[in-house]
Amino acid sequence: MDSLWLEIHDQVKQIPVIDTHEHLPHHDRFDPADSDILFDYLLHYMSSDLRSAGLSVEELEQARSKHLPLDERWEIVAPYWEFCRCTGYGRALDLAVQGIYGVDGIRKETIVELGTLYKQRRAEGHMRFVLKDLCRIELSILDSWASHEPYDRELFRYAWQPTPFITASQDKLRRLEEQGVTVNSLDDWLQAFSAALEENLRRGVVALKNAMAYERTLYYEKVDYASAKSLFADTLTAWRTALERGSDPILLPKAVQDFLMHYLLKEADARGLVMQVHTGILEGSGNVLANGRPSLLNNLFLDYPNVKFDMFHISYPYCGEAGALGKMFPNVYLDMCWAHIISPAAAAAALSDFLDAVPYNKIMGFGGDYGFVDGVYGHLVLARETISRVLAEKVRLGVFGVDQAVRIAEHLLYKNPKVLFSL
Ligand SMILES: [Zn+2]
Repeated sequence: MDSLWLEIHDQVKQIPVIDTHEHLPHHDRFDPADSDILFDYLLHYMSSDLRSAGLSVEELEQARSKHLPLDERWEIVAPYWEFCRCTGYGRALDLAVQGIYGVDGIRKETIVELGTLYKQRRAEGHMRFVLKDLCRIELSILDSWASHEPYDRELFRYAWQPTPFITASQDKLRRLEEQGVTVNSLDDWLQAFSAALEENLRRGVVALKNAMAYERTLYYEKVDYASAKSLFADTLTAWRTALERGSDPILLPKAVQDFLMHYLLKEADARGLVMQVHTGILEGSGNVLANGRPSLLNNLFLDYPNVKFDMFHISYPYCGEAGALGKMFPNVYLDMCWAHIISPAAAAAALSDFLDAVPYNKIMGFGGDYGFVDGVYGHLVLARETISRVLAEKVRLGVFGVDQAVRIAEHLLYKNPKVLFSL
């Protein structure tokens, strides 16, 4: 770091953070005996880079197995880990063990010691310690399927995924009927959908979340009510037969899914809700990248001007498209969650572009997007470095001074998400 970067970074480190997106456990209660560093660290991200580098599915399973000795499991991943150590995912984990356990990186010489430290720290309070004391995160927005379960309000708020009503199969019908809901038509389905939305709003969710790019295109056509109603009726008949026979899942046809998304957005538009949308790269080892192109949402931005769309992950690699949409639409926001570890270089380039093109109150600077808290710490170290570096470059170019750079960082990391999610 040069002196200007360092000067800005010193101040950025002091700024509290509102974290727009996490998948963390709801509570800070862990069983130390059951806690395992490689099981957790290979839940996602690093496991995908290791797979990308050549690790097989079977090897990954062995490496995550709590029944084998840790040093043996390390030997399985070690050659691939070296190829991945310099990616954002690899760097975040090394930074995490340095900052949290005072251990210099994850390697043959440190893995057993780290395994022991990891179990010890899982005792009550580790998650709170990392989030509050180490990270200075005031609140995180949890993306959870279990929004009915109680959660620690001092750490979290919720986003609700309405996906099970939209990319639904007969399983959703079965579960609704078990709860005493009668479904004989599209109208019944819509009623159940609205009731679920109301219930979640009563519970205090601060955003809706659309993660459907994992399963389908983000292009939602306008479908008329009569077509949707008739298609739904056909599907309902097929669902009942499938439930009787125990056959494979049958999804609602795309046209009905599209109709339901427009229905939801009408409801959201009337209430001025925020919808977080997964755009761009898909986690895992293979999927349809172009399903997450942000411009596929263009018609929704036009049709629902009161819905605030928080576009996730800088839409990597469609960052330019995301920037243009954020610039064009008052209701489109750009969210850097996950971005600083997907590629620190891409995050820096995108942020530099966003700051030149988009009003800075539209940019959310950080969301950890991890299922285990140590990752959040490593990610935030990288995020603060990247944000400071980009701001220092702007100062060097004479765009603004150091004081303004720090004010912008405060907006990205704290004020913007606080305003967007009314926290
Ligand atoms: Zn996520």
